[in-house]
Amino acid sequence: MEKIKQLQDEALGLIRQAKDLAELDSVRIRFLGKKGELTEVLKSLGSLSPEERPKVGALVNEAKVVVEVALNDQKVSLLAQAQKQKIAAEKIDITLPGKGIKLGKLHPLTQTMEQAKDIFLRLGFEIAEGPEVELEYYNFDGLNIPAHHPSRDVDSTFVIKDEVVMRTHTSPVQVRVMEKRQPPLAIIAPGRVFRRDYDATHSPVFQQLEGFLVNKNITFGDLKGVLTEFLRQMFGSEKKVRFRPSFFPFTEPSAEVDVECLKCGSEGQKGCNICKGTGWLEILGSGMIDPNVFKAVGYDPEKYTGFAFGVGIERIAMLKYGIDDIRLFYENDLRFLEQF
Ligand SMILES: [Zn+2]
Repeated sequence: MEKIKQLQDEALGLIRQAKDLAELDSVRIRFLGKKGELTEVLKSLGSLSPEERPKVGALVNEAKVVVEVALNDQKVSLLAQAQKQKIAAEKIDITLPGKGIKLGKLHPLTQTMEQAKDIFLRLGFEIAEGPEVELEYYNFDGLNIPAHHPSRDVDSTFVIKDEVVMRTHTSPVQVRVMEKRQPPLAIIAPGRVFRRDYDATHSPVFQQLEGFLVNKNITFGDLKGVLTEFLRQMFGSEKKVRFRPSFFPFTEPSAEVDVECLKCGSEGQKGCNICKGTGWLEILGSGMIDPNVFKAVGYDPEKYTGFAFGVGIERIAMLKYGIDDIRLFYENDLRFLEQF
């Protein structure tokens, strides 16, 4: 009987000292396991006298209950303690300096394209798209570009196979839209175009924004109004704009549109590296749509007139940001891209 009391006290002492659940479990096994010390006492009851047996048996069972309750209490308190420590370890110190989040930015060409699209959308144009791999017909013939024209030279065009090319401009979208729809039309066609060219100012892949407007009674005055508004919104309302006669197969008459030099102004300054001293920068090509283009899509040229224009997005971005090598746009050098 003495021994039972001793075992109980020893077990309770060890339980109080247990520092974790593993230690606690080893105490449970030592006293209450199959070969535990209290269990062994129960097994030895047979060797006792009939009078002692029930007394000792009751005492051992009582001791087992006491030990089990103590084990459970200690387990609960160890778990609570562990939880407390975990919370303390995870506590956020709000006085620590924050981590800076690096925000991504849009590529300068994307920014320029978005700005150009926004201007025309506000002017009432809608967006149309066409395939980059294009039939020769839409890229050339449908635009009144005859078979012998220098722009059809295989040296400047990526030819996929007979009668199929990578489009060299976004103008084919003009023909595709006009074939399917009737005027009035006010459309812009932004997209990538491809030419066999590669140097500081030419890239084999670049972006154009094509636009055209067709309706009754559209005049060259409408062309000037729309394009002047576009260039003023793009480069600043105080900038001078001029129209120069030019030639394109799909427009007649045609005009190149210049904006005054962003650096030295329309007077021009000797040695200016942007305008070469001329005071003017070529920005876009434009003109009244040739009657032959209308005939090819089944419009009556006596009934409808319209104008078309095309502008290079890289060229605008280079001028706006003062970049002298087009290849910088495609090299993905973060030191360059982070400046925009
Ligand atoms: Zn200049």
